[in-house]
This record gives sequence, structure tokens and C-alpha cells, in this order.
Amino acid sequence: MSDRVLRGSRLGSVSYESDRHTEFAPRALTAYDCASGHQTTVPFAAEADIPPTWECRVCGAEALRRDVEQPEAKAVKPARTHWDMLLERRTIAELEEVLAERLEALHQQQGAVKAQLKAQQAAERGKTRRKSA
Ligand SMILES: [Zn+2]
Repeated sequence: MSDRVLRGSRLGSVSYESDRHTEFAPRALTAYDCASGHQTTVPFAAEADIPPTWECRVCGAEALRRDVEQPEAKAVKPARTHWDMLLERRTIAELEEVLAERLEALHQQQGAVKAQLKAQQAAERGKTRRKSA
């Protein structure tokens, strides 16, 4: 009899175990709400450490656990911007001066480039005129 049973079964493919007499560990559903109002429920084992946040199943944002008090958001120091750091080193009057200097230098440079371009164009015009003549 046992020969027949073994012949028809493939190793590793079928489990003969059933859930019938298995007792699952006690579990509880925990609800999470994301900022967009989606609700996500996650089953946790009763003795598990339940995390305060979970990823929203709908939008993927961080969802907060519903049945606990949320920790108060810590007072966040506003980030120091490059502008703030600049103002620690220089006054507005100094910055105006630096700006004027840089603009002057830039205009001089642009004037030089424009003059160079004009000279080039004039030279090319002279060449084509000589060719056509
Ligand atoms: Zn969501």
C-alpha cells in the first residue's frame, strides 16, 4: 500500500499538512492613517512590537498608527540658508558694492567679446567682398 502512495507524489511539491488542527498565534489588526486619509490595516501578532508608522497601501506615504497618541513634533530649527550665512559675513551695503564691481567687470568682458565679434564679422565681410569682386 505504501508503495502506491509514494509513486504518485513528487518530492517537495505538495504539502500534506493541513491548517485544520493548527492554532494561529493570536493577532490583532492595527489601523494606520496617512495624511491623504487612506486607511491601512496590518495584522500583527499580539506580542509583537507594533511600529508607530507604516507605509500607506494606497499612496505609499507614511501612515500614523491610529490607536496611540502621536508624539509631539519636535521644534525644528529653521535651516540656515546660503543667504543667511552671507548676511552674517557682509552688510547689504557691502553686498551692493560687490555687486556693482562684478557687474562692471562683466560688462567690460562682454564689451570685449562684442568688439571681437564685430572685428571678426568685418574681416569675413571683407573676404567675401574680395571673392565676389
Ligand atoms: Zn495614502
